[in-house]
Amino acid sequence: MTRTASPGGSRPRKSRAQPPRPPTVGFVSLGCPKALVDSERILTQLRAEGYGISGSYQDSDLVVVNTCGFIDDAVAESLDAIGEALAENGKVIVTGCLGARTTSGGASMVAQVHPKVLAVTGPHATAEVMGQIHQHLPKPHDPFVDLVPEAGVKLTPRHYAYLKISEGCNHRCSFCIIPSMRGDLVSRPIGEVVREAEALVRAGVRELLVISQDTSAYGVDLRYAEGMVRGRPVRTRMAELVQELAQLGVWVRLHYVYPYPHVDEILPLMAEGKVLPYLDVPFQHSHPRILKLMKRPASGERNIERIQAWRRICPDLTIRSTFIAGFPGETEDEFRHLLDFLQEAQLDRVGCFAYSPVEGATANALPGALAHALREERRARFMEVQARISAKRLQRFVGRTMRVLVDGFEETDDGLLAVGRTSMDAPEIDGVVRFTGSGRLGAGQLVEVAITGSDEHDLRGELRG
Ligand code: SF4
Repeated sequence: MTRTASPGGSRPRKSRAQPPRPPTVGFVSLGCPKALVDSERILTQLRAEGYGISGSYQDSDLVVVNTCGFIDDAVAESLDAIGEALAENGKVIVTGCLGARTTSGGASMVAQVHPKVLAVTGPHATAEVMGQIHQHLPKPHDPFVDLVPEAGVKLTPRHYAYLKISEGCNHRCSFCIIPSMRGDLVSRPIGEVVREAEALVRAGVRELLVISQDTSAYGVDLRYAEGMVRGRPVRTRMAELVQELAQLGVWVRLHYVYPYPHVDEILPLMAEGKVLPYLDVPFQHSHPRILKLMKRPASGERNIERIQAWRRICPDLTIRSTFIAGFPGETEDEFRHLLDFLQEAQLDRVGCFAYSPVEGATANALPGALAHALREERRARFMEVQARISAKRLQRFVGRTMRVLVDGFEETDDGLLAVGRTSMDAPEIDGVVRFTGSGRLGAGQLVEVAITGSDEHDLRGELRG
């Protein structure tokens, strides 16, 4: 969960030669990378229309809060952020997942808690949000408004960017309310996605993080129709998209990939070094009965075989996954099945949530809800097992030299260290490499680092050459 200060908060200088201060919007961005991309689109449109953007409530004429509504903690954080914006500024428009949530009586949950908000929209609603902003803070008239970067306004550091390829989801996992908030899968045309990726690379991006709710399903809604990419017809399909992105000469990292059979097609590209050997596959559980109760797509007992086959093709493949411990009705045996799966799968990067009921999710009606303490205890046991696996897997890199993308620097007791990531690490969610020899580096640089140590999550090293 991130609360991101908006970029580019340029304050008008007090010079007579300066044009008048433009109407200025403050922005609070919460939630997952998909919400972040929605924020970036709204910010891009605001800049394109000549609005000022400020990171301070006091300098803003109106504040947009992009919310998250996925779990109860996120709902509470979003409602707090709205309350803070109302108290500090007073003019607030709410967008994002929480905006789509309603009370049992069908009223907007946000409007019920905060009746003074000016407007509430759901996620993925740039046009609606802009319409509301126009109504409450009219558009500036300025002939010099088209000075927006080609790649749009980004909330991520300059050297990496999220690339959203579709919105919504055709599945109906029983613990999830995303389809009811974001609707069924809608894929972006492949030509548009590749053009955006090219613009990002021209703007200095060195790593593209492909995101969606279900990346492997890209194009299903369009029946894999052909689109035009660099003057050639290309099918709107994950493997074809990855082939195109692989030609851009930057890191390409795939998130939210379900283990459908056609995922096997991209493993050779990973083995050849064309895209990062990294797959973020949300397995959620291993036991067939629990997977069935969860209504998971591509669930199955064959996941271990699939992982082994992937590793045969691409031995350096990093697999990241997330799991839920303590799902309603989960028995001790079924939980142990999950621990055994973990031991056998030897996944590299793993997150685990203790099951938490989300209002509106069908799993809430399942019998056998577990006590909060038991759910937490299972999560802790799970993470203990994974910590040992993770530490062991990272040890094998000590003594090797790895390619590292520099993210920034950290002042430590040992002096200034550079902090970067290998192909194994997605920003914010995975580990990092801390290394000496940082003096001549800048963020976004790719360097070779000799790995000298490891722990459960991170590596240490020395800059080579
Ligand atoms: S695949 Fe399942 S968990 Fe993921 S967005 Fe779709 S319904 Fe939700």
